[in-house]
Amino acid sequence: MHDQFKRSIEYLRISITDRCNLRCSYCMPAYGVDWLPPRDILTYEEILRVVSLSVDLGFKKFRVTGGEPLVRKGVLPFLENLSAIPGVEDLALTTNGVVLAPLAGQLKAAGVRRVNVSLDTLDPGKFSTVTRGGKHNNVLKGIEKSLEAGLNPVKVNVVVMRGFNDDELERFVDLARDYPLHIRFIELMPIGASANRRSQLITVDEMQQRLAFLSLIPARGLEGAGPAKNFTTEGLKGTIGFISALSQHFCAGCNRIRLTPDGKIKPCLHSAQEYDLRQLLRSGIPDEQLKEAIAEVIWHKPSQHRMSVEGWEGRNRVMSQIGG
Ligand code: SAM
Repeated sequence: MHDQFKRSIEYLRISITDRCNLRCSYCMPAYGVDWLPPRDILTYEEILRVVSLSVDLGFKKFRVTGGEPLVRKGVLPFLENLSAIPGVEDLALTTNGVVLAPLAGQLKAAGVRRVNVSLDTLDPGKFSTVTRGGKHNNVLKGIEKSLEAGLNPVKVNVVVMRGFNDDELERFVDLARDYPLHIRFIELMPIGASANRRSQLITVDEMQQRLAFLSLIPARGLEGAGPAKNFTTEGLKGTIGFISALSQHFCAGCNRIRLTPDGKIKPCLHSAQEYDLRQLLRSGIPDEQLKEAIAEVIWHKPSQHRMSVEGWEGRNRVMSQIGG
């Protein structure tokens, strides 16, 4: 399925919940998030119907995210049902890793092929501060168990923030030296609780300058590389990637749309444009018409987003409600 700009759209990111078991200070407020009422959240059956119709439209790749996807009840059978839909070629999961360790083997058995684990610091004290109480060791164990379970690749997402973790870039590289982990340094975006954190932005250019002494060379063949530019250097078991949504847009190659927990389709993370699929799903509409509605949204995917380093303009909707 192509949009009007001839991009092939084949990747659906599904946020199955807005709830999270962490409260990362750059993502969510400590208190007072207006959680979605349960009746507004898509049921697993509704999501699976959307996935089946998306496959008919040519979608092949699916990522389940949140909020924290592993806190939603029934997530394992849901993933199993999702991966069993004929035509689903790739199922990935994004998680904060807090409850990943005991589930890694079951996730693999349910058909999840790969995981992205968010981990912004290698310092347990700083981790506890930024997540407002998270246990660092649980995440490290989750990463270890994911490797053991054969989830592949295991990527570690690091949002780089000035004055918080920008002194740890080299330590993260060392992690990819010791383990087959794919570190992805991500630019902070003006979303949710980061709306007023412009001063903490470190661009990918600056990150790369700081690591220039490593003589990184482009890496090839990493599955699901998406918008990351991946590099390697001698002695690395994994890779080092950089994701720049702000300073170097990757809209021309964007192949994804998002489904929010309350059933909105967002053709672009950084656009206010969204379409209420839940209402249609619950109206008794036949599959063919629902497919036409999804195809229409895809056709109107914006050519590019307007977020930029210069035009840092916060969006108040928190990431977990959009689907990170
Ligand atoms: N709970 C899961 C997790 O932690 O990976 C999935 C949802 S979380 C919102 C997805 C990703 O969004 C995390 O890696 C988080 O660090 C990132 N994120 C949240 N707010 C962000 C911001 N303002 N800029 C860049 N990344 C952000």
